[in-house]
Amino acid sequence: MEKRIEKIKQQLHSYNFKLTPQREALIRVLIENEEGHLSAEDAFLLVKKKVPDIGLATVYRTLELLSELNILQKLNFGDNVTRYEFRSEQAEHHHHHLVCINCGKVEEINEDWLGPIEERVEKQFDFDILDHRLIFNGICSECKKKRQ
Ligand SMILES: [Zn+2]
Ligand SMILES: [Zn+2]
Ligand SMILES: [Zn+2]
Repeated sequence: MEKRIEKIKQQLHSYNFKLTPQREALIRVLIENEEGHLSAEDAFLLVKKKVPDIGLATVYRTLELLSELNILQKLNFGDNVTRYEFRSEQAEHHHHHLVCINCGKVEEINEDWLGPIEERVEKQFDFDILDHRLIFNGICSECKKKRQ
């Protein structure tokens, strides 16, 4: 945790931004909820428990700033809610998401099976692919059990 905070602090400094106590509290919440795919409101409610005087606008601005600096990336799972997660350290490949349309649970697939598809696309369209996004929408195993 401390190493990651330190790294983000340096990234901010290199763009002449400071790691204020409020920003730091927010980043800690994001790290603690790493796989939570938090929206700004989710993050606000969590960070407010630790820093009661933080405002939603500060949370929004900080999330925007961290996204612009490529520390975070924005996700949209089709519900018109912007969610945030850390960019992976390797940054080369981002994991894929399974989103349950019933309960909203998000699972992650870390393996990448899209290599052959990328190759085909690159050939067919003469297009250099840098990254891709993949979201599967459907019904998760728990919801399936409840429905039976
Ligand atoms: Zn579900
Ligand atoms: Zn994710
Ligand atoms: Zn992939």
